[in-house]
Amino acid sequence: MKQFDVVVIGAGPGGYVAAIRAAQLGLKTACVDQWLDPKGKPALGGTCLNVGCIPSKALLDSSHHYHNLGHLLPAHGIEIAGARIDVPAMQARKEKVVRTLTRGIAGLFKKNRVEAFAGRGALAPGKKVVITLHESGEREEIRAEHIVVATGSRPMQIPVAVVDGERIVDNEGALAFEEVPERLGVIGAGVIGLELGSVWNRLGSEVVILEALPDFLGPVDTQIATAAHKSLTRQGLDIRLGTRVTAAKAANNAVTVKYEDGEGNKALEVDKLVVAVGRRPYTEALNAEAAGLRLDEAGRIEVDHLCRTGVDGIYAIGDVVKGPMLAHKASEEGVAVAELIAGQKGHVDHELVPWVIYTHPEIAWVGRTEQQLQAEGRDYRAGTFPYLASGRAQGAGETEGLVKMLGDARTDRLLGVHIFGAQASELIAEAVTAMAFHASTEDLARTVHAHPTLAETLHEAALAADGRAIHI
Ligand code: FAD
Ligand code: NAD
Repeated sequence: MKQFDVVVIGAGPGGYVAAIRAAQLGLKTACVDQWLDPKGKPALGGTCLNVGCIPSKALLDSSHHYHNLGHLLPAHGIEIAGARIDVPAMQARKEKVVRTLTRGIAGLFKKNRVEAFAGRGALAPGKKVVITLHESGEREEIRAEHIVVATGSRPMQIPVAVVDGERIVDNEGALAFEEVPERLGVIGAGVIGLELGSVWNRLGSEVVILEALPDFLGPVDTQIATAAHKSLTRQGLDIRLGTRVTAAKAANNAVTVKYEDGEGNKALEVDKLVVAVGRRPYTEALNAEAAGLRLDEAGRIEVDHLCRTGVDGIYAIGDVVKGPMLAHKASEEGVAVAELIAGQKGHVDHELVPWVIYTHPEIAWVGRTEQQLQAEGRDYRAGTFPYLASGRAQGAGETEGLVKMLGDARTDRLLGVHIFGAQASELIAEAVTAMAFHASTEDLARTVHAHPTLAETLHEAALAADGRAIHI
């Protein structure tokens, strides 16, 4: 039986990063992953690389370029007559990006001497992992001093709209349409609903999004969510809040969706329906409970603040444990756990995990929202600055949006930064770094920002928190 210092189950951004970091630290490491690409070949990278972050951003970029042809470029004096979208070419580019990156991880494993096993792993007594190998169908047992469970998550299912992979799809299907659906329905105005709804809306679909909750993007700072709601609606996303889907049936090349809202029973006919109502932790066939791991009411493996499960030598990270289901959160937990196993002090500051929703404009934030601070009864001061007043935003024709900065009223320590605007995904990094170093709004206000840049909007929002913004 092969013996390792560390065996990681799952090669998503949590697992593959944990495996590489463990190997870097001199630990003999293996990683077991069951993912198969559309051709039935093992592919590393998990949800994120295969059917999540990477392919969705590839399509968001392609559709954004196409949309700009008709919406942004004419104002720059650029007219391109007869532009059209070639969906198979767009999908082929996306697949190439995915292939390049998943193969890249295989290369990184080789370079770091991480042994990869393609198959399904299950926990067994005596710190063993039993792998059902894809290639031979045979079972192989391996042993490790430390096991890291990084099995990720899967789309949640709802009985009223059963995914058939043809007309009714989840994120995987919605990333792979071969043509632009004329009418697209989406259940769930969460992150996937808005990102994938945006992709197909920009390419010409009529998109209707049915959301159960009465508020749009409840966890987002209300001022930002309100601005984003207005903008996305103006772009053509028909977002219907406070709706309850009661049935969805595919027949005659269409899907009929029945739902209720405040006014009564309604029906909607679409060509494709995307179900994007959240994700659930993936522990099937892992033998988790038999191995002594505890699952909480949401099916997540219970862990402490250092990702320890309570069973000696078994850790769990990423989407399969508590916290936001985000790739960078999974990766940082992977690094922390590998360092802990190697005898170092691994640590993730879960208060400072940034969020980005890749609509256009993008929505990004870190730390507390204004409504959270109000609920906590904390004294704070807020500074906002609109993109409209930024020279760089004017030059680029990207004047929609705002930056909002929240600081403690007494100490001035930064408590939260919220951005709705172009390049928010990049700009938020400055806020995360500032907060990680316990900066105050004054620290940001006194930091020189290059001109003209969109980052100046953060500088001005910091000045605004002290009532002394210059350009507004
Ligand atoms: P996963 O990536 O899910 O990987 C788990 C791996 O373990 C998979 O390969 C799975 O097959 C394998 N596995 C499971 N059980 C077993 C077993 N028993 N044996 C062997 N292998 C097993 N997050 C962001 O931060 N930014 C984004 O832009 C973003 N975009 C997204 C877009 C979409 C459409 C989706 C669906 C998700 C997106 N996410 C994004 C979320 C992100 O993909 C997840 O948070 C991230 O992949 C979690 O990483 P993980 O390693 O915990 O799990
Ligand atoms: P989500 O939790 O973001 O949104 C799901 C939405 O569906 C919620 O607004 C919820 O109220 C609604 N909903 C639930 N049941 C419903 C029902 N029966 N009818 C109508 N609406 C219903 O989940 P998601 O969009 O599926 O994405 C899953 C997770 O994947 C995200 O929470 C995030 O962690 C991750 N993700 C991240 C990114 C990113 O970082 N940019 C992108 C995509 C996905």
